[in-house]
Amino acid sequence: MTAADQLAKVQRKISDAEQEAGRSAGAVKLVAVSKTFPAEAIEPVIDAGHRVFGENRVQEAHAKWPALKQSHPEIELHLIGPLQSNKTPEAVALFDVIETVDREKIAKSLAQEMQKQQRFPKLFVQVNTGAEPQKAGVAPNEAAGFVERCRHEHGLTIAGLMCIPPIAENPGPHFALLEKLARENEVAELSMGMSADFTTAIAFGATSVRIGSAIFGPRG
Ligand SMILES: *Cc1c(COP(=O)(O)O)cnc(C)c1O
Repeated sequence: MTAADQLAKVQRKISDAEQEAGRSAGAVKLVAVSKTFPAEAIEPVIDAGHRVFGENRVQEAHAKWPALKQSHPEIELHLIGPLQSNKTPEAVALFDVIETVDREKIAKSLAQEMQKQQRFPKLFVQVNTGAEPQKAGVAPNEAAGFVERCRHEHGLTIAGLMCIPPIAENPGPHFALLEKLARENEVAELSMGMSADFTTAIAFGATSVRIGSAIFGPRG
C-alpha cells in the first residue's frame, strides 16, 4: 500500500472512532508524523490533499519543510518533540503549533521570541502523565501551576495539552488524566493518540491524533 492509501485508511478509522465515541464528524484532527522520512516520501501525502504534519526535531524540520511549505503555504506544521531554548527562534519561525511547552525557560523564551517575530504559533503544554524520568513534560500535579504561569506571567495562550503515555502501559488512564487536566484548567484541545492507540484516544476525547508509522510505514 502507498502512503496515500494508508492515509485514507487511517482517515476512515478516525471517522469510525469518532462515530463510535459519539463525537461529531471531523472533531479529530490528523497530524501526519513525517519524522525521519524525506520530502519525497511526504510529497505523495501532500498530493493526496493532507495538510497537517508533525516533526519531532527542529533541525530536521528546518531542512525539509521550508521548501514544502513554500509550494503549499496552507500546510500546518506541528512540533511534537522537545524544544531547546536555543532553537526557539527557528521553531517560532517554522512551526504553526508547538505541542511541547514543558518548562519555565521555554515558556519565557517562546513569549519573547513570539513578540520579536510577531508570529504566534498555537501552544500546547506537554504533560508527563506517567511521570517517567526520561520523558519530557510537566508532572501531572504541576500542570495547573504551569499553565497558570504560562498565561499570567508569560502572557501565553495555551490552546491544548499533549501527552505520550508510557510505552508498555494501558494508555486509557493516561488519556483520561490528560482530559481531566484540560477540563480543570479550561484548556480546549487534547493531542493524544499515536498509531497504536489513536482509536482509544478518540474515545477519551482527543481533538488531535499524531500518527506516523500507520501512514508512512516503519521508521528505519
Ligand atoms: C513519532 C511520534 C509519534 C508517531 O508515532 P507512531 O507510533 O509512528 O504513530 C507521535 N507522537 C510523538 C510525540 C512522536 O514522537
